[in-house]
Amino acid sequence: MKLGRAALDLLLMNSPLRAPAPEAMPAPGAAPKVSFVSLGCPKALVDSERIITQLRAEGYELAKKHDGADVVIVNTCGFLDSAKAESLSAIGEAMAENGKVIVTGCMGAEPEAIRDRFPDLLAITGPQAYESVVAAVHRAAPPAHDPFLDLVPPQGVKLTPRHYAYLKISEGCNNRCSFCIIPKLRGDLVSRPAADVLREAERLVKAGVKELLVISQDTSAYGLDLRYAASPWRDREVRARFLDLARELGELGAWVRLHYVYPYPHVDEVVGLMAEGKVLPYLDIPFQHASPAVLKAMRRPGNQGKTLERIRAWRKTVPDLALRSTFIVGFPGETEEDFDMLLDWLKEAKIDRAGCFKYEPVAGAPANDVAAPVPQEVKEERWHRFMRTQQEISAKRLAAKVGKRLPVIIDEPGAIPGSSPGTAKGRSKYDAPEIDGSVFVAARRPLRQGEIVTVKIERADAYDLHGVAV
Ligand code: SF4
Repeated sequence: MKLGRAALDLLLMNSPLRAPAPEAMPAPGAAPKVSFVSLGCPKALVDSERIITQLRAEGYELAKKHDGADVVIVNTCGFLDSAKAESLSAIGEAMAENGKVIVTGCMGAEPEAIRDRFPDLLAITGPQAYESVVAAVHRAAPPAHDPFLDLVPPQGVKLTPRHYAYLKISEGCNNRCSFCIIPKLRGDLVSRPAADVLREAERLVKAGVKELLVISQDTSAYGLDLRYAASPWRDREVRARFLDLARELGELGAWVRLHYVYPYPHVDEVVGLMAEGKVLPYLDIPFQHASPAVLKAMRRPGNQGKTLERIRAWRKTVPDLALRSTFIVGFPGETEEDFDMLLDWLKEAKIDRAGCFKYEPVAGAPANDVAAPVPQEVKEERWHRFMRTQQEISAKRLAAKVGKRLPVIIDEPGAIPGSSPGTAKGRSKYDAPEIDGSVFVAARRPLRQGEIVTVKIERADAYDLHGVAV
């Protein structure tokens, strides 16, 4: 579904996502059951994984339905008003079907708004309050005496398919973009020591993960708060620097994909790692706009002319570099001229994958008051023009791949309806799961999830590639 892509792009920052149900696992006899709803971005998904891992370690069982569970946890998203509405509706559903409900996540940072609607909730905790969530679960449904620790695989419980995993390297953000309340909800940047991240990555790779998706609010700021302190990893010390961490991750034998990167100068060095084949030739940079006036109102660094020069230089070093980004249209005060500037920039930068969302006022965000709002119908019209322009760019970029042989990671074997068992849906190095395009693969043998196969590309459309496994 093509338009769904744009909606999925919201995942990068804020859109609600119901996590897929974790695999069913054996559980001890009378283990208490927890039902879990995970809404929000991939960062929130990582929080959910941590909470579930801890609960599974203590012997809790995951219930597939609210009904019959001993307690329900709702991990909420509080970024946009629409995300809040979805969170409140998920809480309402859990209250109606079960009644013993714990709320956590971004929306938990504003407990009054939730308490007003649901006075009987068992507990409300903010984002990353793992211990508080687990303590609330203990109160509602005490753990079984024998925790059956061996039920938990050493890499923890993952909500993503087994062959890829999100690797969160820091929390919070030191920026203060005027449309964003994430720093208010999640606080300033707090980075994990490099060795800590690398140990988790190594465990994941040992458990079969083939692709690591590095996430945070601002990946290139990684380590700033730690003053880039080194920590011991294997026989050496690794500094908490974006470049050093990316290099070490690149040694683990999995694909490494970098998300939420800002074009700070040291990104140029990471592009060098892409040229060496250590990390994927893929950069996810949320540019948000191109007009200096809008960027200033957004309180974002705003020299997109210089950024264009850097993009050209990156592509000289890594000719097949794929750029993905997100943009906001209809930001308060955005003029027709600003918007045209954005479209021109998009064409110049040849952004491979772009998500676009219409500005929506966020309670508590300074952006709401910077200028007069753009009328809804103008936002709609600009959004359609943006998507048409982006579709043309994407189609051209993909057409250039026809005839090439690309490594493709298989996400869904047998995914083409009505076709033979040897067909599958996968992704090239240029596409992240959930938010980018796919490669539809025909093969003479059944393909396995997570397998990386070489595919000869035969055809391209606006978003996807089609080819044959060779
Ligand atoms: S960089 Fe800006 S948009 Fe992203 S989390 Fe930080 S403040 Fe929000």
